[in-house]
Amino acid sequence: MEGSRRSTRVVVIGGGPAGSLIARTLQFVADVVLIDPKEYFEVPWAALRCAVEPKFAERSLINHKEYLTNARLVTSTAVDLTEREIITANGRWISYDYLVIATGHPTSVPLTRTERLKQFKEAHEQMKSANSVLIIGGGPTGVELAGEIASDFPAKQVTLVHKGLRLVEFIGSKASAKTFSWLTSKNVKVLLNQEITVDQLNSKQTEFVTTEGTKVQADCWFNCTGKELGSSWLREGILKDRVNKQGQVMVDEHLRVLGTKTIFAIGDINDTAESKQGYIAQKHAILTAKNIKLLIKGGKESHLSSYKPASTMAIVSLGRKEAVAQLPFFTAIGHIPGMLKSKDLFIGKTRRELGLDPDGI
Ligand SMILES: Cc1cc2nc3c(=O)[nH]c(=O)nc-3n(C[C@H](O)[C@H](O)[C@H](O)COP(=O)(O)OP(=O)(O)OC[C@H]3O[C@@H](n4cnc5c(N)ncnc54)[C@H](O)[C@@H]3O)c2cc1C
Repeated sequence: MEGSRRSTRVVVIGGGPAGSLIARTLQFVADVVLIDPKEYFEVPWAALRCAVEPKFAERSLINHKEYLTNARLVTSTAVDLTEREIITANGRWISYDYLVIATGHPTSVPLTRTERLKQFKEAHEQMKSANSVLIIGGGPTGVELAGEIASDFPAKQVTLVHKGLRLVEFIGSKASAKTFSWLTSKNVKVLLNQEITVDQLNSKQTEFVTTEGTKVQADCWFNCTGKELGSSWLREGILKDRVNKQGQVMVDEHLRVLGTKTIFAIGDINDTAESKQGYIAQKHAILTAKNIKLLIKGGKESHLSSYKPASTMAIVSLGRKEAVAQLPFFTAIGHIPGMLKSKDLFIGKTRRELGLDPDGI
């Protein structure tokens, strides 16, 4: 890449909650380059609300340039790396002094914010005109989508098919049971312990059969099964031994990739022993920014901050006002956890952390 403005270059790969925050935090202390396949940051957990209410997307889709006023953006994906350079799909070799891998989950969304807004409008039209909706996958994505549709379009027949024995398995069984009762009370039909194989479906399909032989009729369907991790591009390169069987990048207590001194991995992509959440990814970003600043200033290794994995805390929203929360010692459902997340989905908070007006568009 052409000449550097400062002596130390930090390349951040991935513009999700972790990568965006660290790029923003370091942009005035280093020559920061953010590599992301899209021109904008998207609050990932707001995507479902955006499909149900497209106007919501205006605050949750933020062009990277809005908060990266002093960093460079490369709109591409990283495909390989050497000990000094990153190679992108559009053929660029970008040198780095420090590298931050924040590639959580790969996205297949449009390049520009305008196209993404249009995509949400189309999804909304499709949903509005359907009388019945099938959701495949009963993790947080499927449950939140079912909750959004049941709240905004109560007349639609929503069927949720989940291969597990209980919904949202990453939270406790009490919270799962409460989620099940809430959805069924809103007339969502929940089919547990059965699967629909997504690979064999086409977008116009309206008749489906589960592995247990249950027939489902639906005017439209949504795939909410889990996404793979964004580490396949590392599997053949110099870090191939640092990717575990789950596809996570193994890190030490300073969130550096095991055995390296200048490569960090933060957010959902790393193997810290905790539930993978956006607010945790942001904590990784803050700690890593502090450590990189220290190293840039020539600070001692022994002064690097160590990361302590967080205890489980998760909120799964159920429509506009309610939610189920898994807190360290108990679970809660209803309006109180709903007040924490469901109305705004932490969009104002996320915007503020990027230095933007929480209410602005
Ligand atoms: C339905 C749902 C609800 C959720 N609710 C909450 C919640 O209420 N609170 C909360 O804290 N968390 C929540 N989460 C979890 C949260 O979304 C994730 O933990 C968070 O997005 C992780 O951030 P990240 O930056 O590590 O990765 P990601 O958000 O996955 O971002 C990764 C970025 O890297 C880019 N990328 C991938 N591969 C490459 C590559 N090779 N080169 C360049 N760029 C690449 C992607 O395009 C993307 O921009 C929820 C998740 C879901 C699915």
